[in-house]
Amino acid sequence: MKKFKPALFRQQFPLVVNYEGNTLSINNSLSQIESSSPLVYFDNGATTQKPNCVIDSYHSFYQTANANVHRSSHALSAKATTAFEHARKRVKTFINAKSYKEIIWTKGTTESINLIAMSFGRKILKQGDEVILALSEHHANIVPWQLIAEQTGAVIKIAELDVMGRVDLPAFERLLNSKTKVFCCAHLSNVIGKINPISELIQMAKSVGAITVIDGAQAVVHFPIDVQSIDCDFYVFSAHKMYGPTGVGVLYGKQALLETMPPYQGGGEMIKQVSFNSPTTFNSLPFKFEAGTPNIAGVIAFGKAIEFISAYNAKQIREYEKQLTIHCYQALQNLSVSSKKIVTFTVQGLPDIPVICFTLSGHHNHDIATALDSYGIAIRSGHHCAMPLMEYLNISGCLRVSLAAYNTFEEINYFINCLKKILAQESDSSLACANNNGKNEKNEQASSLVITQFAAVKSWDARHRQIMLLGKQLNRLDKSARNEQTLISGCESLAWLVTQKNRHNIFHFQADSDAKIIRGLLFIVLAAFNDKTAEQIQAFDIESYFNTLGLIQHLSPSRGNGILAIVDKIKGMAQ
Ligand code: PLP
Repeated sequence: MKKFKPALFRQQFPLVVNYEGNTLSINNSLSQIESSSPLVYFDNGATTQKPNCVIDSYHSFYQTANANVHRSSHALSAKATTAFEHARKRVKTFINAKSYKEIIWTKGTTESINLIAMSFGRKILKQGDEVILALSEHHANIVPWQLIAEQTGAVIKIAELDVMGRVDLPAFERLLNSKTKVFCCAHLSNVIGKINPISELIQMAKSVGAITVIDGAQAVVHFPIDVQSIDCDFYVFSAHKMYGPTGVGVLYGKQALLETMPPYQGGGEMIKQVSFNSPTTFNSLPFKFEAGTPNIAGVIAFGKAIEFISAYNAKQIREYEKQLTIHCYQALQNLSVSSKKIVTFTVQGLPDIPVICFTLSGHHNHDIATALDSYGIAIRSGHHCAMPLMEYLNISGCLRVSLAAYNTFEEINYFINCLKKILAQESDSSLACANNNGKNEKNEQASSLVITQFAAVKSWDARHRQIMLLGKQLNRLDKSARNEQTLISGCESLAWLVTQKNRHNIFHFQADSDAKIIRGLLFIVLAAFNDKTAEQIQAFDIESYFNTLGLIQHLSPSRGNGILAIVDKIKGMAQ
């Protein structure tokens, strides 16, 4: 077993180490870092970066072993099949399954849960049966069950959380009864970061004969999993969240259960015998659930990821991740503006894994995430595919810092310093805006004015500041005008649009959003379209306008799509 040395471990991740500006080691000095273009990757809960061995595995497979698996009798296929099945055995050992037959390859956690719901759920659930889901589940562990409940007449019940954010055991016990057929729960929520009392929950669910489905998407990379010891019926996870490739996932199921389940998809390799004259019979486990050509290169690369991570002392990795978590959590806790603490953590107490979710009072999550992005810091903002949890917490979304064992204390310090700088800039820009007000009145040449303002700014950081300044100049819509009718769908944050047409057929639009960055972008869009006729609106070349401003390439695809949705809506209104 290799001793875990953070610096050497980090060296294995080329994107993290070699990313443009990261050849400069990140330290606390902002001036040093601002001159380069770094990447501080704190979005590991979404997907982790990949080590060299995983990347190399793709090259090696396609250069030396590419063939389809299980189907052909030639040597190359045998070579590919051996490597492919070797990866399955690695997973079996990694989670301590009893047999390789219990390991089914899928595309990821989402597909694994869909497989269980559509095959097992559809078979056993009847009208009035109950499926219990934890309140903090990811949509991947909610929606498949909602779909199946609709088809079977089963009812979904919700397991509440305790004050620390874990599934509440007494409340869970009260939900259990003879109608409880399935219990689905994340080992760890992707927002809360606290380990659920999974063994106790499983034992309680079993006491009423329910089948247990555990979503390990956020757990597997952070601590060892022993499916026999926790005694769950199903355990699911994705390769890409544990240093492996995208497009590969695992469904672990107890063999006896898997044997009773009908196939999920039909096709090649999942059959024993197909005939038009007699019923089709199915292959043995695990192949019964693996229709079609699988992601062979991905599965083999995943095997390498498991080999990679298993080589290190897991306790040392966990201890390092804990120290990173404490450092980041405390630094956020101490963050203040005018001596007022401004961070609210999504749930009480230090998380068990390096996933820290929070909001900053007076700031929209998307504004902070975009501002951090301009410093090369990648964190996630939004509802994190856990809308019911957001509703329960009474927030529209939050910021999430999710760390991996290749992250460093220096990166956290850089992140905190940038956050401080952004918060300080916010108050400066309020002043700048006050000075500017009155100069930027409604004006037919508004779009040219925007272009002129942007011409002077070169870096994305400066452009970002300019957008935020413009956002402050956008007149806010009345609360009454921000309603379902005026809401623009397709935006990451809430945005509303209203229009008026005068007797000369000139259109005037007003828009608003709950995020400052979106208000800035709305200002830019309205500058292009306001006080024009329908013909002028249709004729305006918005693409080259955005290109001139250098905007779209810096916006996330979802935010870029949101802006394009607004443009479409305006054009639609001006038909
Ligand atoms: N479950 C949890 C707890 C997750 O965090 C995620 C992804 O973030 C998923 C399920 C879905 O995983 P995938 O998109 O890899 O299928």
